[in-house]
Amino acid sequence: MAQPAWEHEPHPLPLDSAPLPEYGSGSLADLLPTLAAGMGVPGTAAAIEELTPADRNCVFLIDGLGWEQLKAHPEEAPFMTSLLASSRGGTGRPLTTAYPATTATSLASVGTGLPPGAHGLPGYTVRNPDTDELMNQLRWQPWTAPGAWQPYPTVFQLAHDAGVHAAQVSSPAFQNTPLTKVALSGGTFHGRLGGEERMDLAAAQLAAGDRSLVYTYYAEVDGAGHRFGVDSDNWRGQLMYVDRLVQRLAEQLPPRSALYVTADHGMVDVPFDEQHRIDFDEDWELRAGVALLGGEGRARHVYAVPGAGNDVLTCWREVLGEQFWVASRDEAIAAGWFGPHIDERVYGRIGDVVAAARDDVLIIASEREPKESVMVGNHGSMTPAEQLVPLLEVRS
Ligand SMILES: [Zn+2]
Repeated sequence: MAQPAWEHEPHPLPLDSAPLPEYGSGSLADLLPTLAAGMGVPGTAAAIEELTPADRNCVFLIDGLGWEQLKAHPEEAPFMTSLLASSRGGTGRPLTTAYPATTATSLASVGTGLPPGAHGLPGYTVRNPDTDELMNQLRWQPWTAPGAWQPYPTVFQLAHDAGVHAAQVSSPAFQNTPLTKVALSGGTFHGRLGGEERMDLAAAQLAAGDRSLVYTYYAEVDGAGHRFGVDSDNWRGQLMYVDRLVQRLAEQLPPRSALYVTADHGMVDVPFDEQHRIDFDEDWELRAGVALLGGEGRARHVYAVPGAGNDVLTCWREVLGEQFWVASRDEAIAAGWFGPHIDERVYGRIGDVVAAARDDVLIIASEREPKESVMVGNHGSMTPAEQLVPLLEVRS
């Protein structure tokens, strides 16, 4: 017996139902320019209206701590919870990250003050149009000239040039990486292994100038989420630890300071079954006409073989139905997923097809990406759980 047509052809998800990042008014890329403008740094403009200027500004970025996850765990994070009422000038609203909600993209947005369509790190892995190879933006593999890939000055550089004391306090492992160079350079980088050491040094760096801009970072909330899941014992232990770090830093702020606690993205746990983890390497329909699979499970860039882009788009929409927003490159750009405009050099880094998860699903690739395919917690897409990040404020 013939089945009704809708059982064969699920409706594609309307693209205008995707909740876009608040580029230009309330996204991660707007934070440092707002702080720098408040210190009078030329070439920067305030974009987040609620923030009041301070002479000394510190940003503490907690990798992977989304707004929704923080709000769901007041007992593990009593100090940060006490700051919620003051976030974004007391409105209690979060910031958005960018699309995709992933570390390399977000760190570049934080440091440059630009959306991905301008800074040009629009995914976890993206195609390098000059080589037709995938490039991992987090590990910078294969190596590509950093200044050509991301040519804009960072806000730290602009601040340093304007006489503001600029510093980054993070893991020593990141001191000389290309990602640090393109996203966070300007002023002086200080590598410290321990969280407490970083907090103490960040406070000292903040005090080292009459005007100062300091960035510090903690990675392991994200790491625990990927390995064990949000709300796992390990994840909650990390949240408790980082809450004490925030308090330690807050209690050491020198006069005339503002501390902003934020994150690069949130996280979504994804069940381990075939309905929630669609395996690209086992699915001939999704593979047809695809030259390269980029991005990550919840935010895919799909690069088609020449001439196959429309067929791949049609096929991905049919297979994924309402589980993903599936857009052509031009549709995603026109919808503003990567920001209000796309630099020419960035255009070919974006997939011919872009697929962003709506549900708690992944497109894994069990052979190409064995490690990423078994992560419990994941991120990348535009859902509130991964897109919204805290903006907590402490002033002295
Ligand atoms: Zn992550």
